Amino acid sequence: MSGRLVVVGLGPGNPDQITPEARGAVGEATDLFGYGPYVERVELGAHQTRYASDNREEISRASAALEMAASGRHVAVVSGGDAGVFAMAAAVCEAIEHGPQAWRGIDVSVVPGVTAMLAVAARIGAPLGHDFCAMSLSDNLKPWDVIEARLRAVATAGFVIALYNPISRGRPWQLGNAFEILREILPATTPVVFGRAVGRPDERIAVMPVGEADATLADMATCVIIGSAETRIIERDGLPPLVYSPRSAGMLSR
Ligand code: SAH
Repeated sequence: MSGRLVVVGLGPGNPDQITPEARGAVGEATDLFGYGPYVERVELGAHQTRYASDNREEISRASAALEMAASGRHVAVVSGGDAGVFAMAAAVCEAIEHGPQAWRGIDVSVVPGVTAMLAVAARIGAPLGHDFCAMSLSDNLKPWDVIEARLRAVATAGFVIALYNPISRGRPWQLGNAFEILREILPATTPVVFGRAVGRPDERIAVMPVGEADATLADMATCVIIGSAETRIIERDGLPPLVYSPRSAGMLSR
């Protein structure tokens, strides 16, 4: 008997940013898997069991969830933000690819959510208003050389860059190093947005030029958006600034 497995993104933290589809998918599941703080956000119904795990145990969590689904249960695996952005949907796919044949018969679906960079961008204006990319700064799953090469390539190509996983206790120097690389490529005035715990009570937003960007302002709950040379700051009396990337780029030199 093969059950179902749904991977669900619960948004960045504000309960209003959980989509009705995500709420429904979690409500229907019998068994919920996820990193502790995410899965603990869910109010359990009487028919539901929760399996909270550590942040680093993604593959073993995915495998445990698949095993339970294969036994006929209706399993939900929850992530913060969007489940497909640096999160559990890819871990579930990896586990299926390398796992027993029976897991390929499970009815797997993914429900999208509001990813952190969208919530941060919406708080400050429209920094993602033109071409952008997202990168995880974590070198747990890829070497720093690759990160550095990608940062140089996308900054040189003029993309706005949303950095996820900018810093942690085990990775204290990477963000400072990234700023140094970006300062070689971007004008010193290029805006940088630090969006911390957006949508939660301890939210904090800071904007500064890349020339002054200070890595100690970021923590694990921060998404850092680095503008392109086109990204602008509109200062406003008595109101927070608006940061935006105009819808056109590179037109003046044509
Ligand atoms: N799947 C998640 C990302 C997981 S990676 C998503 O789509 O948002 C974890 C990283 O996401 C954190 O290090 C941080 O960079 C970012 N993040 C998650 N929640 C956030 C929030 N509320 N505010 C700002 N950044 C957040």
